[in-house]
Amino acid sequence: MLERLYANTKTKSRCGATAATREHYTTCALLQHLLKNLLEAFGPIPNLVSPQQPIDHILNRLPRSEVGLTLGKWQSTWPALLHVLREIDRLSHHANTYNYVEEPAPEEALQATTSITSPPNI
Ligand SMILES: [Zn+2]
Repeated sequence: MLERLYANTKTKSRCGATAATREHYTTCALLQHLLKNLLEAFGPIPNLVSPQQPIDHILNRLPRSEVGLTLGKWQSTWPALLHVLREIDRLSHHANTYNYVEEPAPEEALQATTSITSPPNI
């Protein structure tokens, strides 16, 4: 998932860094405030083996159901994660080529998902 999100190493970050890589976004000045919010919401992260980054660890711990996203720390972690991923997407594309897509606010994305009712059993 992240491999597709991060453009390739020829892509610059909007901060001016020459390579918009997963390692870069751990330290990118333009992402730090959102990353800090995410790490505070998720809680302690164990020592990771390179090239795994904190975002990878959090993605690997995602609940397997939408209901799980409404419980405990995921109530705040999930919107914070969406903020970070959307910003990485934006930062990885030049302003002239970035196609803004209207999406629900991260805080509302979960409501949009969980409010979809299942079709009746036939
Ligand atoms: Zn950057």
